[in-house]
Amino acid sequence: MTERTSEPAFGPKPRRRTQTVGIGGVRVGSDEPIVVQSMTNTDTADVLRTAMQVAELARAGSELVRITVNNEAAAKAVPHIRERLLALNMDVPLIGDFHYNGHRLLADHPACIEALAKLRINPGNVGAGSRRDTQFAEIVELACRYDKPVRIGVNWGSLDPAVLARIMDQNAGLAQPRDAGEVMREALVVSALESALQAESYGLGRDRIILSAKVSSVQDLIAVYRTLAQRCDYPLHLGLTEAGMGSKGIVASTAALGVLLQEGIGDTIRVSLTPEPEGRRTEEVIVAQEILQTMGLRAFTPMVVACPGCGRTTSTFFQELAADIQSYVREQMPMWRQTHDGVENMTVAVMGCVVNGPGESKHANIGISLPGTGESPAAPVFVDGVKTVTLRGANIASEFRTIVDRYVATSYPRKAG
Ligand code: SF4
Repeated sequence: MTERTSEPAFGPKPRRRTQTVGIGGVRVGSDEPIVVQSMTNTDTADVLRTAMQVAELARAGSELVRITVNNEAAAKAVPHIRERLLALNMDVPLIGDFHYNGHRLLADHPACIEALAKLRINPGNVGAGSRRDTQFAEIVELACRYDKPVRIGVNWGSLDPAVLARIMDQNAGLAQPRDAGEVMREALVVSALESALQAESYGLGRDRIILSAKVSSVQDLIAVYRTLAQRCDYPLHLGLTEAGMGSKGIVASTAALGVLLQEGIGDTIRVSLTPEPEGRRTEEVIVAQEILQTMGLRAFTPMVVACPGCGRTTSTFFQELAADIQSYVREQMPMWRQTHDGVENMTVAVMGCVVNGPGESKHANIGISLPGTGESPAAPVFVDGVKTVTLRGANIASEFRTIVDRYVATSYPRKAG
């Protein structure tokens, strides 16, 4: 008889057990879904632009949105941003990001802290020297008074110099000192954990703390989070800091987060992409969702499977159709999410020729196999593995969309009410 083990033979390891933290209406940790979050890049003092970007990020699927609160004008703007969002019927929790002067801004602007669902503070730049502990305590006491959870987010670019100096001194005294990289990783972990314990000593509950320790190297990030996961049960916010632009940022974030998520580590994620000039901030939300969805951890939007194309298909028609369907399902998803249960699990295949087209199409909920070079100009469509129709002519794209709409209407029943 095969002995049962707790380790699954296939798929990600079970999530690590953690505290569960409520952030507005969103819960983070343990058995809760892994939460996608993002951050604005507008001037927070510009209420309209910031509210519009928060709304755009939330519509794209960001379940928490962080805004920087860096000065008096930003602190004054926060409650107005929240009001504008509520007027749009958007109750997305806002997280305030504080550096250097957070203690003062929060004390001077109670309406700011009231409008926020969570505070993020960086122990490395809460205050210099002897002021560090006092100012850290002031922020934590305000968080307690207003019942706000706190992310203690360390970052290797602003690591607490006192902690780093202490870990370096300890290392120098070892018979076999560790290398500089190990010392830096240990200092990040120690800074996060000691700050969390310090916050608890000021009265913040264990279930009001989330930790992060961000670095920009994939291997460092994996090592740091593995250690954090072993040493505490606070929920962990994952993210590769300064991931970069375009494919580099996406690949680096996916490589780092993929390894950790597969090991059951990570309760909320952010993908820190540098947008292309004129690029959309929502890209970071889509990438975060796609990491979780392609790993089978959550489903957000129907997946479009498309072949890469090759010399068997010399036209760009199938690429255009794949792009058309991909953007169509994303555009429809906010409405479908309200009206059709489970539609986010749908898969649509758009394939370039007969070699893999029919086979892949049969594995999808709906698939279309377009004609490759020299093939008869016909595109068979498969629905739940069965060939239902063959499309021809100039209207293949619109007819295929109609088939997708019909499938959604009939296969994913409307929610009651
Ligand atoms: S399905 Fe056809 S067109 Fe697409 S990559 Fe395979 S052989 Fe090439």
